[in-house]
Formats: sequence, C-alpha cells, structure tokens
Amino acid sequence: MSNLPSPDLPPIKRWPPGRDLPTFRSESPWNANLHTHSLYCDGKKSPRKYAVSACDNGLSILGFSGHAPIPYPPGADDLGVSWCTSLESLHYYLEAVRELRTEFSGRLSILQGMEVDYIPHILGPAHPTLKIMGLDYIIGSVHVAGRRPDGTIWTVDCRTETFRDGVDTIFGGSIEQMVKEYYRRIREMVTNQPPDIVGHLDLVKKNNQALQFLDEAAGWYRAEVFETLDAIAQAGCIVEVNTGGMAREYTQEPYPSLFILQRCRELGIPVAISSDAHSPKKITAFFDVALNRLKEAGY
Ligand SMILES: [Zn+2]
Ligand SMILES: [Zn+2]
Repeated sequence: MSNLPSPDLPPIKRWPPGRDLPTFRSESPWNANLHTHSLYCDGKKSPRKYAVSACDNGLSILGFSGHAPIPYPPGADDLGVSWCTSLESLHYYLEAVRELRTEFSGRLSILQGMEVDYIPHILGPAHPTLKIMGLDYIIGSVHVAGRRPDGTIWTVDCRTETFRDGVDTIFGGSIEQMVKEYYRRIREMVTNQPPDIVGHLDLVKKNNQALQFLDEAAGWYRAEVFETLDAIAQAGCIVEVNTGGMAREYTQEPYPSLFILQRCRELGIPVAISSDAHSPKKITAFFDVALNRLKEAGY
C-alpha cells in the first residue's frame, strides 16, 4: 500500500452503495451479520468457527469484515496501530474466507468484506488497493479522531483512561471539539469516499457510560448528528445497528442511539443489524435489542 490516496480523489463508482446487501425490512426475519472480526485482525477464532456459529444461530448470511491494513505514510514507521489485519496476513484472510464459501455453499451465504478506517490522507473506503481485492462490500468506520503530538493516532474506540488523555492532549480538553471532529470525519468520508455501510455511527459515545462526558440531548450534539445523517442519506449508504458495544459491556444501547435511528427512518436511510463480533459466540449478541430499537424507530 505504498500509493496513498489523494485527499482530492473523487468517489470511486464501484457499484451503487449498498446494492445487493441485506437491509432490514420489518416484514422479514433478520438473518444476517456483516460485521465480524476473526483472528486475522483483532478477533479471537478462525473464520470457520464464525461460520459454524452463524449456522447454529440461524443466520443465512455471514460477512467477514476484517480491519483493513493501515498504510503507513512514507517516513513513519509506527502509528500505534494494533487492531488491523497485517499486510502479511491479508492474503491468508482473503483465501480463508474464499475457501469457506465453497465449504458452506448451500448452507450459508458468505460475503467477503473489510472494515476500512477513514483517516484523512492515509486510508479510506476508496483506497485503490481495496478495489483490486474483489470485496463484496466495505464498512467505512471512523475510529481515529486525531493524532497525538508524537504522531501516533488516537481512536475514540479506546479505554477510558486513554480516552480522557486524548481529549486533553489533542483537543485541549474540549469534548465538543473532539465530537465535532469525529462527525466531521464521517461526513467527509461519506461525501468523498462513500462506503456501503457506515460502521457504528455514534461510536464516540462508547466511553460515555463510564465517563458521562456527553449529553446526547444537547442541541449542538443533535445538530452535528443530523448534519451527518443528511450527508449519509445523500450518499446512499446503509447505517448499521451495531450491538458490539453492548456485547463488550461498554454501552447499554446499540450504536446508534434511538433518536438517531428515528431520524434515519425519517430520511429513508436503509439499516442493517450487526454484532461487530470479535468471537464466534457473540455472533448474534443482543440482536433482540436491536430489533426492538428498530421497531421503536418506526422501521
Ligand atoms: Zn469498528
Ligand atoms: Zn468492527
């Protein structure tokens, strides 16, 4: 991945975002999960164990979404990244999922995807190397909201102590500034490099249960979220209802919150339920809660 994308790169017309991917319809049972991480990135077991668990839990569609490698910019040898598929294991990840397709043919429809970080000037869903992998879909996610003075990247998907430290050192202690930068990055991603699915839209709230730093009812917060949803609707992306924060006991609600799902419904944005499973036994964790939230939101 030596060729870095230009920040001015126009969106690549792969196919219309979201085409042929399962999206939630109230009249049909939900039987898919497109957000899973195996041992090829930061998950726990082999892809095969996820496929077996998917069958055992009544799914008929399973997607693998390994974290895409983050290309290091020339001259930088460490961004502090630990969760991604390595360049060395990327080929083995793609092969392993391809082999499973054959093995589970007729029992389980297996899709090959990746969860791609959006990091301005470094990586995004339109990165040219992703195009040649023949992926079925891309989840575009913002984890990284800034860089520390030493150059390492700082993600909102971190533990509470690291979270507070990042807000202080990168954003001068301003939660509002940090949250606004997080959503600004999502808007920039969906406008310039629209993925098929926008990952865990309000991940920024992950540490809110522990730290109580954010009032989700605040006017400025809702305005920021609504502006982002307008951009997503315009781009035609799917929004996932992601239960991963619940499965790992960070949140008591899925991503995104109910008021966001209600607005998604008003804008006609398609949604899909996923568990962001990092172990096979979490393959359908809290899907019942996600289904209830979608019902409450009017889907
Ligand atoms: Zn993620
Ligand atoms: Zn994920």
